[in-house]
Amino acid sequence: MATAPGVAIRGPRSLLRQIREAMAGARPAQIKLDMVMRIVAVSMVAEVCSLYLARKSGEQELFATEGLDPGAVHVTRLKPGEGLVGEIMKLGRPLNLSDAPAHPAFSYRPETGEDPFHSFLGVPLLRGGRAIGVLVVQNRTSRVYAEDEVEDLQIIAMVLAEMVASGEVIDLAGLKDVEIAPQRPERLRGQKLADGLALGVAVLHEAPVAVSQLLSDDPAAEEARLNEAIAELQAQIDEMLEGHQASLGESYDLLEVYKQLSQSRSWRHSLVEAVRSGLTAEAAVERVRSEHRAGIGQARDPYLRERVHDLEDLNDRLLRHLAGDGGKARLLPDNAILIARSLGPADLLEYDRTKLRGVLLEEGSAASHAAIVARALDIPCVGRLVGLRDKVSEGDPVIVDAESGEAYLRPRPDVVAALQTRLGVRAQRRAEFARLRDTPAFTRDGAKISLMMNAGLAVDLEILGETGAEGIGLFRTEFQFMVAEELPRFNAQTQLYTRVLEAAKGLPVTFRTLDLGGDKLLPYLDVDREDNPALGWRAIRMGLDRNGTLLKLQLRALIAATRGRELRVMFPLIASVEEFRAARAIVDQEIAWAERRGRPAPSLLRVGAMIEAPALVWHLDALLPMTDFVSIGTNDLMQYMFAADRGNPRVADRYDPLSPPALRALKMIQDACAESRTPVSVCGEMAGRPLEAFALIALGYDQLSMPPGGVGPVKQMVLSCDREAARRGFDGLLRGSAGSVRSEVETLARKLSVIT
Ligand code: PEP
Ligand code: MG
Repeated sequence: MATAPGVAIRGPRSLLRQIREAMAGARPAQIKLDMVMRIVAVSMVAEVCSLYLARKSGEQELFATEGLDPGAVHVTRLKPGEGLVGEIMKLGRPLNLSDAPAHPAFSYRPETGEDPFHSFLGVPLLRGGRAIGVLVVQNRTSRVYAEDEVEDLQIIAMVLAEMVASGEVIDLAGLKDVEIAPQRPERLRGQKLADGLALGVAVLHEAPVAVSQLLSDDPAAEEARLNEAIAELQAQIDEMLEGHQASLGESYDLLEVYKQLSQSRSWRHSLVEAVRSGLTAEAAVERVRSEHRAGIGQARDPYLRERVHDLEDLNDRLLRHLAGDGGKARLLPDNAILIARSLGPADLLEYDRTKLRGVLLEEGSAASHAAIVARALDIPCVGRLVGLRDKVSEGDPVIVDAESGEAYLRPRPDVVAALQTRLGVRAQRRAEFARLRDTPAFTRDGAKISLMMNAGLAVDLEILGETGAEGIGLFRTEFQFMVAEELPRFNAQTQLYTRVLEAAKGLPVTFRTLDLGGDKLLPYLDVDREDNPALGWRAIRMGLDRNGTLLKLQLRALIAATRGRELRVMFPLIASVEEFRAARAIVDQEIAWAERRGRPAPSLLRVGAMIEAPALVWHLDALLPMTDFVSIGTNDLMQYMFAADRGNPRVADRYDPLSPPALRALKMIQDACAESRTPVSVCGEMAGRPLEAFALIALGYDQLSMPPGGVGPVKQMVLSCDREAARRGFDGLLRGSAGSVRSEVETLARKLSVIT
């Protein structure tokens, strides 16, 4: 507590009691709040104590103060993000400053008369993980508030947040438009992480238990409750690990780390300390949680940030155990949409899959754990929804539109009706695709088109049979590396490739060697920051450097997993024939190495190059004779052809693969492959979109590999396509002078009754 000489120091317990007494009477809300400000100021030996609450507009209004000019109450309003108060709302954590006016975010408001105050301590009022206001103390002299003063103010803020939100103590009518629970319909734009549509009700992942009882008179009893809950939590994690060992595959290692966190001594020590200071076990969990948030929550390092999410998740679980329902899986409504800042590795698996309709995340990226698992489980997911958690409450109706990468919160009835229509159409189409599953994909004029599936984790293979794909045309091996905490060793790699080959049940699998770098960064791999990562040290460049160590290890694991069966392997981002030659030489060396040790060599070896770097298009005469096959990564090829970052929404969709330059390049590749009789496939996203796939077939391609959801729609297109007529139609389009020929392709497809 405050340390001014001669002042009686009072602990948080007596302070909280005084606050409760002040709030309990029948006085008007404003008077109660003013009293609380006074109590806090006296107790903390602060000259100022003020409360700001968020208005619907996002502005922070001064609601009560001790020490600032009372005339500023309900007059001073700070814009969203303005001043130190705005900064705290944004960060969701305390700011402790000895010289507040020197802080870049400081905003001077003359009406408050605050210029003589130098020291500033502000903490957010958090409710359900959402900042609904800020509590501030200030002092004239320059000082840094001690750690326990910060903690005490956080506890007071916790109590105030509950009181404000409950409306029991403060007359909410008097504070009527305080943004406790947003009501308006909202539409948020984010990023599509796993395709699909869903309509349901919001289930908050992070705030299952509200802590109401904060103080205890029996610390020993609280410590016993805490210990019991921790033991239950650890047993639950063990059980989860055991139960899911087989299906989790590469996520298993992640759960191990999670288990270690739950056994962390420092975590337990902080909890016990907090309970011994007089808090209930629940309040102790909240207090330790805010320490974590304030400590590493804002770290830029992605590894540390991931750990913070795991810790948050552990805290939530512990609260559930303390509430007595930790052992049970959370009861979900029938149409649950999970709302979270981000999800840990185990989270999605723990919810009842039959009731989970969709996921909305404030953070997350296409390569995040949650996105990878959501795609594997076929749950629509939209991420990067800024401010999501502040805008949605438990039970709100919500829509996940992962076709467009949007979320609708409390949607209007017309939006719901439109979505229901789209859902109906989708369900009907799914049923049609399922019926086509075993029908071979022949065009009307008899050309066989081979439709394959892209995958990246062992769990993806579970739906291979459902899609009717003829195999895996692209297995992105780097996903295993991205969900791991450290570089997967030889054994872990061999196990994964073995599982994949087994799950494919004899269907062909083309493994692509590591395609890391660019946007696929690994926290544990020490790579210098690059100005242009997409053009930097990535993919095969990384594989071949440092004496080819990464590539050798991976090929060794692939050969071991093949165990004398067929091995199909290809290299990403080959930009020169030398790179392919060098990579292929390593394959030969590794096979010789295995044979020297008496291990079986692959019965059939197929080594291919991905065509993703435009330069190679003009050197196919040299490349093709060296390869057994090639596969076109159109995602990268288009990014480099149009100089437009595929991951940057501002430019990613600016250029069209259905344009004369792109189609001519694709035609050149197809012609060169046909002439040299080199098998060629297309494995970028465009292969999974019916209109683009129609164009590829017209250009002569007959092998397409795509995300699982594309197989049905593309097969339906193939079955109604007359390839020769399509080819003739494309002759003119290739010579076109427009930047995009999408509408012409659409007209042609319609004319040929390929699409309706
Ligand atoms: C591509 O670039 O088209 C491709 C298939 O590879 P990735 O999307 O993994 O870069
Ligand atoms: Mg690529």
